[in-house]
Amino acid sequence: MSVLAEEITVIHKPSDFPDPSTTFKLQPIDNPPTSATPGHILLRSKVISVDPYLRTLLRSCTVGDPLISYTVAEVVDSQREGYRRGDLVMGAIPWRTIQLHDGKGFHSSEPLRVLHLSPTLPLSANLGVLGMPGFTAYFGLLDPDVGNFQAGQIIIVSGAAGAVGSFVGQLAKLKGAKKVIGIAGGPDKCSLVKERYLFDECIDYKALNTTEAMTAALKAAAPGGADLYFDNVGGFITQSSIKALRHFGRVALCGAISQSNNRPEANLIPNFLGDLIYGGITMRGFFVGDYMARLDEFFTEVVPLVEEGKIRFDETVYRGFDKVPEAFAGLSKVIIQGKQWSW
Ligand code: NAP
Repeated sequence: MSVLAEEITVIHKPSDFPDPSTTFKLQPIDNPPTSATPGHILLRSKVISVDPYLRTLLRSCTVGDPLISYTVAEVVDSQREGYRRGDLVMGAIPWRTIQLHDGKGFHSSEPLRVLHLSPTLPLSANLGVLGMPGFTAYFGLLDPDVGNFQAGQIIIVSGAAGAVGSFVGQLAKLKGAKKVIGIAGGPDKCSLVKERYLFDECIDYKALNTTEAMTAALKAAAPGGADLYFDNVGGFITQSSIKALRHFGRVALCGAISQSNNRPEANLIPNFLGDLIYGGITMRGFFVGDYMARLDEFFTEVVPLVEEGKIRFDETVYRGFDKVPEAFAGLSKVIIQGKQWSW
């Protein structure tokens, strides 16, 4: 199939909710490359993932350049060792349909990875449940230095309907959780979290939109206190969840999506420091890029669980390269999970 050589560049950095029409520009690439040059691979993008971290990247990117996100691409030609024509690779790739690439990723620890495809899962799964959100959930929950989750424990997971949160809750159940309590926005999301992702309970933060009401609901769900809070969202949900932890409980600090479109000065001033101190709580941030050397561990355990349907996942797919900005804008009013573009 012939593919138009196009790119989507950033033309404006919004301070609040991104409007796709004033933030990005779709344009043809003049004289697109047709073969690899020494040290490079010629790539044709196939599936682009649009995840919450891109909101942060949009603040630091260069106007006039395309954004870069996790993408599955086909190697059309290669003059770089380790990559052959026809390989499918996954990694940090700019928003272009076709381009030369040096094989490097966001970090030196994550070069473009040649995919070993599952015969039963869609290509896009390599960007979600078997990609960066999956790695994040797995290592954040299980790393002894972060979540250190153990059988018999009670866990609270925010962003429970999202890519990371839904995986965390399901994996905790499979690992013998005493109770998995999700937090999501609205009755439909809460039904999804309980009925499809099999969490024991789900608390609707949109119905209980104060710290006091959320704390009361979480304490009712975990009367003796939860062992672990896996934080995907930040804001008042973090504050409420910390108050519902047992003495010496832990927080795995994964993300703060509720703060994404705030100006920096509007971010939550943490007024839960007293709870951390007097509760002897450990709060530990982690970054998925630090786990790239351990991906074999992830694939060995998780691929069979996903193939057997023991870890369920959902994707929102937009068709057409021109839909990437729309998918990006949709992150601000997330429907179910990370948005993706594919053809
Ligand atoms: P996702 O699939 O887009 O899901 C995000 C979830 O956040 C949505 O289901 C949404 O659910 C919820 N949400 C959105 N705005 C919210 C708000 N104002 N208050 C409360 N909840 C809100 O995203 P994801 O890929 O799962 O990512 C989840 C988090 O992990 C993000 O914060 C991301 O930045 C972080 N992350 C961190 C790392 C790392 O290395 N530490 C790596 C990947 C991702 P509702 O509709 O229910 O509100």
